[in-house]
Amino acid sequence: MAFNNKPVLVFWEMTNVCPLKCIHCRADAINFPEEGQMSTEDGKNLIEQIAGFGTPAPLLIFTGGDPMSRTDLEILVQYASSKGIKSAIAPAVSESLSKESLKRIKELGVLSISISLDSSAEEMHDYIRGVPGTYKKTIQAIKDALSIGLNAQINTVVMKHNISQLPAIFQLIRNLGITTWEVFFLITTGRGSNALDIEPEDYESTCNFLYDASQYGVVIRTVEAPFIRRIVRQRREKGMYWMNDKYKSMREDLYIRCGKPFTTSSISMAGTLDGDGILFVSYTGSIYPGGFLPVELGNIKHLNISTVYRDNELLLDIRNRKFSGPCGACSNKDVCGGSRARAFAYDDNILGSDPACIYTTEAKRFTKKIL
Ligand code: SF4
Repeated sequence: MAFNNKPVLVFWEMTNVCPLKCIHCRADAINFPEEGQMSTEDGKNLIEQIAGFGTPAPLLIFTGGDPMSRTDLEILVQYASSKGIKSAIAPAVSESLSKESLKRIKELGVLSISISLDSSAEEMHDYIRGVPGTYKKTIQAIKDALSIGLNAQINTVVMKHNISQLPAIFQLIRNLGITTWEVFFLITTGRGSNALDIEPEDYESTCNFLYDASQYGVVIRTVEAPFIRRIVRQRREKGMYWMNDKYKSMREDLYIRCGKPFTTSSISMAGTLDGDGILFVSYTGSIYPGGFLPVELGNIKHLNISTVYRDNELLLDIRNRKFSGPCGACSNKDVCGGSRARAFAYDDNILGSDPACIYTTEAKRFTKKIL
């Protein structure tokens, strides 16, 4: 589905200051704002531009780095609310994150918070996030948010380190009372992150596992794995199932921990792609199709984001599914389209094919029955 008139989500990377040292992100914490960070006035300008998309405006997601590190966060949250813009926040787990700070931003209009949880095991989560003690603070922050009535979702980055733990993470999510799980897949750049990424077969296994997990009343969304919608279509409409040892063991683990699925899948077929329903604004004001797609489309200091979103030829090509290779020929590109960020990362071609999708080359692995 093409979101031609306006995106549903605008991500604003308010800063890249962050106390964490995540293994898939940066080697070191960043303690001070980098040169060129948008000012409060720049932020208000962006908010006005988002309001200019018209009612209802896209949801504004304050992200980073750590948005809680900005001293003008409350001013900007309040300004967004005053312009009729709904907002959410994706903080890092830091000293700035407390029940009091969450209460305050909720009062000012933030609707929900997303918090990263990459393992059900304390040691592994702390290893992935690079700072001891992060797991305990993460669990506390989730409980704090829920206790004050702030919607909380959990974000998990899938990598070799935690793929086998996904059923345990899902069980923990349900035990905590979380109703939305957003699962991120890596966009690797060859700077060490390649070693963390899973194989295409594991993408398929994981997305099939997530389809199963979406039948327990928890809303599940994926980031940079749009082919989950192809899998949903195959399973719902054609009764086709993927099966290999990895998926089999993940599904068995899921059933042991959570019992058999009891409701219909929560995965929406009207998902977004970078540049199709999504826009990302960096800490300097540069506009990108998505947070993992470093193709600059302009800067909010010189261009209006609604003009960029509606008229940029690259974004029009994405929304019109003008892809090359297997994604261009695929009968599922209407609901999927492949990760544009991964196509660019692997082949410098934003309109190329997503190399994590096994569909076109491995169709023989599909069967009509669950083994
Ligand atoms: S080939 Fe491309 S469009 Fe088709 S399912 Fe795979 S990623 Fe999606």
